[in-house]
Parts: sequence; C-alpha cells; structure tokens
Amino acid sequence: MSVVVTGAAGFIGRHLVTALASAGHDVLGVDRRTLVAPAPGVCALRADLLDDDAADAVRDADAVFHLAARPGVRETGPDVEAARHRDNVLATAAVLAAARPGVPVVVTSSSSVYGGTTGRGCREDDRLHPRGGYATSKVEVERLCAQRRDAGGAVAVARPFTVAGEGQRPDMAIARWIDAVRRGDAVEVLGGPQRSRDVTDVRDVVRCLVALADSGLGRTVNVGTGVGRTLADLLDAVCAAVGRPAEVRCVAAGDEEVAATLADTSLCARLLGWHPQTDLPALVRRQAAALDAVAPLEAIAVPV
Ligand code: NAD
Repeated sequence: MSVVVTGAAGFIGRHLVTALASAGHDVLGVDRRTLVAPAPGVCALRADLLDDDAADAVRDADAVFHLAARPGVRETGPDVEAARHRDNVLATAAVLAAARPGVPVVVTSSSSVYGGTTGRGCREDDRLHPRGGYATSKVEVERLCAQRRDAGGAVAVARPFTVAGEGQRPDMAIARWIDAVRRGDAVEVLGGPQRSRDVTDVRDVVRCLVALADSGLGRTVNVGTGVGRTLADLLDAVCAAVGRPAEVRCVAAGDEEVAATLADTSLCARLLGWHPQTDLPALVRRQAAALDAVAPLEAIAVPV
C-alpha cells in the first residue's frame, strides 16, 4: 500500500514513517524540512503542503497520515497566528481536498482543544474550550475534518496528549529539562510542580495512528494513557535518566498553559483495542539516551 505521511521530518512523523516502512508499506514522507536518514522503504518529498507537488503526492496515496503542523501552545510573536492558520488550517484543507474519496485519512489534532481537565479524563464528546491560538487552530482543523466526513470522507482525528520519546521537539518540557540537567542549568517549571500531564510514549502513539487508519473508522479519539503525571514526577524521571539532580525554578505560566491534562482512553480501547504501554521512567531514559546515539530510529512492530 502506498502511504503518504505529512510532517514526516517532525518528531512523531519520523517514528511513524519508520514503523510503516518496516511493516512493508511504500511510504512517501512529505515535509518542507529535510527528512534526515530515512529508513529503508521511505521516500521523501521536500515540499510545502500548499504546493502542487504535495497535493499530487496526496492524490496518489492509498492512505494519508496528516501530521504536519505548527505545534506548540506557547509560541508567541507577531507572525505566529498567521503561521498557525497557514500550517494548521490551510494545510489541512489542502490535504483533505487532495485525498481521493474513500482513502483513509488520519489527522492529528491535539488534546489542547479541551482546555485542560478539572479531575476526570477528558472524553471525546466533551465540550471544547480551546485556550490560545494553537488550540483554536486545531478546533478549526477538526471542523474541516468533520465537513469532509459529512461529505462521505473516511477521516479519523487523533487527539494526542503530551507525546514523549526519542527526538521529542526541543520546545517540549521533557526535552528542555533533559537538556538543562545535562548542562547543569536550572530547570524551568511552568506554573509549579503539582501541575500534571498525561504523557504517552511515541511508540504507542504510532500504533494508535496506524490502528485508526486500518480501522477505516472516521472517528475522533483521544491518544493518551489515562494517567496524570505531576511535573515533579516527570522531573524526577529526567533526573534519574540523566543521573544528576536538578535546580528548579518555577515560573509563571500563561493562560494557554493548562494546569492539568488527562485523557479518558476508553473509546480508543473499545474501538481499536488499543492499550498504551507507556513506561515513564524507561521512556525518559530512552529519550535521554537517544541524544548520544547516532543510530537511526529503531524499527517498531505495528500490525500490517
Ligand atoms: P513537529 O513540529 O516535530 O513536526 C511537524 C512537521 O510538519 C515539521 O517537520 C514541519 O516542517 C512540518 N510542516 C509544518 N507545516 C508544513 C507545511 N505547510 N508543509 C510541509 N511541512 C510542514 O511536530 P510533532 O510534535 O511531531 O507533532 C505532529 C503532530 O501531532 C502535529 O499536528 C501536532 O500538532 C500534533 N500533536 C503533537 C503532540 C506532541 O506532544 N508532540 C501533542 C498533541 C498533538
């Protein structure tokens, strides 16, 4: 099967293309960044999703995973909202328009559409409370997906909570903290150590995205573990992985930085039989160790 992955040079995209290729698919990774050292079986197209080349590639695919985006809730600056609209909303519209009818399309949204949790895990049918421009752009992405579904398209939407693992984006907390502890710098904790995040192993996320495409179900599902980890616990895991203590500096968090995230994972388990196997200390150790490794991403087994 010929599969297109957008955002293939990104954190999750690199893991996904490797897994799909090792499962025997012909994989074309589309990204405007260079896909470094693609695994055997992965071809790369360097293009912007608003370009004709990218649309042609999507049109030829038997399945599409649309991961490309301008992620991150904290980014600020004069051009950020325009960039989010372009790379999140317009790029999704272009991918959905190019995909052939009947071809399964899996689109990554984000748990940020919920605006945090007040205790219980967020459920897919909860009312959305996006806080900030990134979350709002993902709500718009989901609206485009719903439109395409209403027109008969097989579009699944994944709402990942925090994803961790080898090659995590450098703006994300665990990556920033590993870097700071290794350098002996103070670790900045946004909002205080009792805030919490639902953290999922990128390998679990990849398995879930593949299962969503295989299922052909045009559904929206949470991709999380159902376990909240305090920032203090995450930092302990980082210190253990690096083998050094951390000097902690708590800094005020912006409104877009929610106090707690937590997924209700029951829909994903029921629809897909997907159960995350995230082992936080081992995951953080792997992420830290990967900074010193020169080997390409390890192939992981996913069902064909
Ligand atoms: P990433 O930034 O590492 O990868 C995104 C890739 O998309 C980048 O390589 C970028 O070059 C590419 N891209 C962006 N706009 C493009 C365009 N117009 N044309 C071509 N390429 C373009 O992000 P990630 O962390 O791998 O996240 C992947 C997806 O998962 C995103 O949709 C993100 O919003 C979502 N998500 C991620 C997390 C997480 O914890 N990493 C959590 C929730 C949701």
